[in-house]
Amino acid sequence: ASPDPLLDIENIEVVYNHTVQVLRGLSIRVAPGAIVALLGANGAGKSTTLKTVSGLIRLENGGLTAGHVRFRGREAWGREPDRLVHDGLFHVMEGRRVFEDLTVEENLIAATYARSAGSAGSTDDALAMVYGYFPRLKERRKGLAGYLSGGEQQMLAIGRALVAEPQLIMLDEPSLGLAPMVVEEIFSIVLRINRERGAAVLLVEQNAAIALAIADYAYIMESGRVVIDGTPAQLAANQDVQEFYLGHG
Ligand code: ATP
Repeated sequence: ASPDPLLDIENIEVVYNHTVQVLRGLSIRVAPGAIVALLGANGAGKSTTLKTVSGLIRLENGGLTAGHVRFRGREAWGREPDRLVHDGLFHVMEGRRVFEDLTVEENLIAATYARSAGSAGSTDDALAMVYGYFPRLKERRKGLAGYLSGGEQQMLAIGRALVAEPQLIMLDEPSLGLAPMVVEEIFSIVLRINRERGAAVLLVEQNAAIALAIADYAYIMESGRVVIDGTPAQLAANQDVQEFYLGHG
């Protein structure tokens, strides 16, 4: 039997402004320590899924009208986003939001508020750990985050998650707008973080090929529901996936 999922999204329906239904019976599971990719075209509802899990959807006037979101066995819907962060769920939003007027190091220190209840060690330990994964951030630690390259800002956004020592990191389109070499570098670090620290990753991506290269399992969404799911090997063997998502038609 498979272990209890860390995150269990069960048959959720989500609407914006009480009228626009975006998620239509979506179910997704993330096992502890797994990397799960959530793929699909623009507008399929991937970002909405992450915002529903982290509680940010309410800020955008969206709401859950059916189904359940369980994190560590407990209903997450309706809880405050910062409580969820303390319970080990960290959402790295699309567009690598960092505090541009703070230095790299100040950005990391600002994330220590989010450290989960179980995290031991000092702030210095947390910074050293992040700099171990991202030596580039260490080199630039005194510089303003606003002056970093796009790839470095993405690294900083992920570094802020790392400081919090989450059990689940949700990444929304980390490859967006970055050069292929930078994307590869970031994905290989995400894989290392997952394998070495045991943090599960729910990865939203348009770039299916790179996401499948590191994922243990993947879901493809269309119009607010899952249309195909499987291991990367299973998806790679699927003709429709080849044609529509991997561009090998
Ligand atoms: P993208 O890659 O463009 O972010 P996505 O798969 O993440 O795509 P969502 O951003 O979740 O898709 O958007 C799904 C649908 O919900 C889209 O039709 C979008 O227009 C709509 N939507 C998103 N945010 C809002 C909002 N705040 N209010 C109303 N509708 C919204």
